[in-house]
Amino acid sequence: MSQFWSPAVRDLEPYVPGEQPRDTVIKLNTNENPYPPAPGVAKVLADYPIDHLRRYPDPSSLALREALAAHYGVHVNQVFVGNGSDEVLAFAFKAFFCREQPLAVPSISYSFYPVYCDFYGITPHKVPLTDSFEVDLDAFPTDNGGIVFANPNAPTGHAHSRAAIEALLDKHTSRVVLVDEAYIDFGGESAIPLIERYPNLLVTGTFSKSRSLAGLRIGFAIGPADLIDGLDRVKDSFNSYPLDSVAVAAGVASIKDDAYYRACCASVIATRERTTAALEACGIEVLPSSANFVFARPTTIEAGMLFDALRARGILVRYFNKPGLDQFLRISIGTDDEMDYLIDAVHAIVGEK
Ligand code: PMP
Repeated sequence: MSQFWSPAVRDLEPYVPGEQPRDTVIKLNTNENPYPPAPGVAKVLADYPIDHLRRYPDPSSLALREALAAHYGVHVNQVFVGNGSDEVLAFAFKAFFCREQPLAVPSISYSFYPVYCDFYGITPHKVPLTDSFEVDLDAFPTDNGGIVFANPNAPTGHAHSRAAIEALLDKHTSRVVLVDEAYIDFGGESAIPLIERYPNLLVTGTFSKSRSLAGLRIGFAIGPADLIDGLDRVKDSFNSYPLDSVAVAAGVASIKDDAYYRACCASVIATRERTTAALEACGIEVLPSSANFVFARPTTIEAGMLFDALRARGILVRYFNKPGLDQFLRISIGTDDEMDYLIDAVHAIVGEK
């Protein structure tokens, strides 16, 4: 702590992302995609005209917004892009939520939400999950200053149907409902088609998971044009060049290669289902997941001990040492070989199959 820090920074509890070790054999702790980005992305990067880097990027990232608009069947003025959906979420918190009214968030969800609340002085109103670890859509208060949740939720993996989100929107018409769809491509049903009918719905997405581009930092929001305008206002005040030119070119190439992206998602889903069954056969409870990770509760060993034992074998998963989460491990879905290695290790550690 420094005497020069502002009070806002002094009290800030920053988000701690999963480790990025250099020497781990198998890294299953940050929900990255185990497959490379689309071949079209590799080509665009290899052929990128280096001279373009002299120039500032297009401040509106129009090429990528147009590609996203065509992909999702919306108008380009309903699309916003930013440096990863983390940045888009931060802009949304700044644009739509305020100090005066608490913001409803699930008690167990993406841990960045409380960090943004802290940063912008917004009070989070934490809504407990149901007994089966689902975001409790019926429990969000109607007198709040907005609603934020991830669908599928992280780290639990459960996804609500579009119909359930529609019912939520029918109930909450006068405040922004932000649905974070970072993991939607692994089996969820996107709420994006609802933006035409609900002027208060904003959906965020990312290229970090299903499109294997976490290293390039590409996130987006899709919503009614005036919500997108609100994000633009914040963006222009913080960072009027949100995406660099290389990220825009790679993002466009990724969207063009639809077949590859679909095949990657299908592989991850198949591996997730197989992994779930194998972990269950080792006596581990696994919550049903629509994401590229599973949330797993060992029953014969403490989660922290299993985490350490896996780590000792070179396998890194995520252990949140916090009340409510400390009985679980979040395990990202890797390649089939990686998951076989994990399953063998779990079997050896817990001693049953
Ligand atoms: N939302 C959720 C629920 C996430 O788990 C993550 C990734 N940690 C993000 C958003 C942010 O992803 P990115 O900034 O890479 O787009």
